[in-house]
Amino acid sequence: MIAVLKDKATQEQVDNLVEWFTMQGLKVHQSKGDYCTILGLIGDTTKIDIDLLKGLDIIESVTRISEPFKKANRKFHPEDTIVDVGGVKIGGGNFQFIAGPCSVESKEQIEEVASAVRKSGAALLRGGAFKPRTSPYDFQGLKADGIELLLEAKKTTGMPIVTEIMSAEHLPLFENVDLIQVGARNMQNFELLKALGKTNKPILLKRGLANTIKEFLMSAEYIMAGGNENVILCERGIRTYETYTRNTLDLSAVPMIKELSHLPVIVDPSHATGAARLVKPMAMAAAACGADGLMIEVHNNPPKALCDGAQSLTPEQFDDVAKRVMKIREVI
Ligand code: PEP
Ligand code: MN
Repeated sequence: MIAVLKDKATQEQVDNLVEWFTMQGLKVHQSKGDYCTILGLIGDTTKIDIDLLKGLDIIESVTRISEPFKKANRKFHPEDTIVDVGGVKIGGGNFQFIAGPCSVESKEQIEEVASAVRKSGAALLRGGAFKPRTSPYDFQGLKADGIELLLEAKKTTGMPIVTEIMSAEHLPLFENVDLIQVGARNMQNFELLKALGKTNKPILLKRGLANTIKEFLMSAEYIMAGGNENVILCERGIRTYETYTRNTLDLSAVPMIKELSHLPVIVDPSHATGAARLVKPMAMAAAACGADGLMIEVHNNPPKALCDGAQSLTPEQFDDVAKRVMKIREVI
């Protein structure tokens, strides 16, 4: 349930009302906008007399939220959330490129890619250190050493870094990581989501391979329910019967999620398509339908990449994609 308070409500009146809700066993989330204060009530609100509430002098309106996600719900927080990742803002009109290799492979590789993508306008550097691979015999990432190499590249380029976590046990290694990624395969790893909810790190949550938008938002809710509201959502394609593309990029999820939620939504056209030549058209389409950013895999030598070479762009190709996407941004 959400209660919108009138402009004239004094802090004392707000505090009294919050105390009363708390006594009813509800958790209260306050959101102070420019023109009004919104109280989001979490818990069993069935016992609350909505007409009595509406009759209070300081109440503008009261609405029951039927969706199971509360903190991620736009009704709860009408303005777009802007997530600050190491000084880089995403959401609410701030569009960013996250670029870098699928996996960190060596110092030379990550530094070469980092400086190239930065020149082309990428604000954040990505690179997998812990890799979720379908086969246990494939390259699993450089793990802690990979994070160290990312941190060195961050020092030389000034770019905040993004890398995937696969287990809550590894959290101490992520202390200096700016944006922690939860990959598609872990979207419903609820223990991991709960652990991340207790941190204050920005989280990039990728949509699961076979998950609905509601399930996606419920996973964001797990992180937010723990107190961490710095969540960015990433549409990366879902599994369908189609086999020409690695996944099916559900671009309609972007405007749909924006209607339902205030969280920033970015698109990953690399994992969505699995083919470098499809990244540009899908990146442009993602920008056109209102995405807040793009995550794109870039490698200095895609044919030799240890992971996902077929979908990786060269730095030159990324430069072209970034330019085309910015043209689309100008038009919209
Ligand atoms: C990745 O971004 O490196 C990755 C593994 O993506 P996803 O979880 O979307 O498959
Ligand atoms: Mn990859």
